[in-house]
Amino acid sequence: MGIILNNWEDYADIICHGFDMENCAIKLGASIMCDGFIKNRPTAIFTHYHTDHIKYFTKSLTHCDDVLTSDITKDALIALCGDALQYRQNFKSFRQGESFTTSTGEKIRFYDSNHVPGSVQVLVEIHDGTKILYSGDYNYPGIITPKCDILVLDSTHGDPHWSSYAEKKSVLRRFCELVHKEIVINKKPVTIKCHRGIMQILMMALESDNNLPQNLIYLANHKNIRLTDAINKHYNNMIRDVLYYKSNDALKIRNSKNPYIFFRTLGEESIHQEEYMHKIQIDSFVGFDSTIIEKPDMTRVNFESHSNYPHILEYVEAISPKVVITDTSRGSSGLKLSNLIHEKLNINAYPRPDFTT
Ligand SMILES: [Zn+2]
Ligand SMILES: [Zn+2]
Repeated sequence: MGIILNNWEDYADIICHGFDMENCAIKLGASIMCDGFIKNRPTAIFTHYHTDHIKYFTKSLTHCDDVLTSDITKDALIALCGDALQYRQNFKSFRQGESFTTSTGEKIRFYDSNHVPGSVQVLVEIHDGTKILYSGDYNYPGIITPKCDILVLDSTHGDPHWSSYAEKKSVLRRFCELVHKEIVINKKPVTIKCHRGIMQILMMALESDNNLPQNLIYLANHKNIRLTDAINKHYNNMIRDVLYYKSNDALKIRNSKNPYIFFRTLGEESIHQEEYMHKIQIDSFVGFDSTIIEKPDMTRVNFESHSNYPHILEYVEAISPKVVITDTSRGSSGLKLSNLIHEKLNINAYPRPDFTT
């Protein structure tokens, strides 16, 4: 037995919960689901704490024998969802390099995915020796590419128009230069808008840059402070303490003429001082050659936390699975990507859920 080309659905698939077509679960082996919910599966895994991956986290906690994450993601979820979580006996974490065997004997390993602090790829080995890898959100190169028979692939940016290359280190260096210019030279406070996890990567980059004043104040809301503390613990407390942006001390700083940095998540409400602050938005965009776009009121920095299209193909090629399943539930490129993988790499690839049938 083992995987043959036409029975891959018995081993891995992407299954939606009810009518929710955007947060579907990755089915791995006989007992495991990742980043979503499927009835009667005893083991749930969450690859990282972004909202399109943890919608069914609480539901899994009440239904599953084991809810598994990496050690950093566990602390991050406790920070985001509340301290009561640490008393849940079925909420377990393990580190990379360790393995976990489910109650049905399926073996799980995590590998860093270079997306946000704590994010992982998930490798499952089942009874007949078949290996299935779920990439999770990942950023290749810079990560291990475990060999497997079936690869379930995140498809964000899986379209040739995401081909621009923004090398992470150089983007971070230019970001630090930009912040330095505003804070030290222009003496202006700065707002930085970005996704969770990316925020902490930026904070760490600023700390290791050494060009910013030691006494510069960082402000953020409670959730982002808690998340920062949780991640910080795993990185030797690299990041300075962050002050709650509505505290009395913070209000004094906001009303002074001194520079400070206010970190906020995309979509979070702004503060009224923002009119006079320099605004930096960190996200990924297409159609511009430059990594940084300077507008009069805002600077946009193109920071890729997902692989771009050429790197997706390189990642799949490095793994060379027998079958690839592309995720169509998180983003719109799954169908196109499955065709391209088949065409360019001659590997059987299937979009799931498949909206074309
Ligand atoms: Zn993500
Ligand atoms: Zn995602």
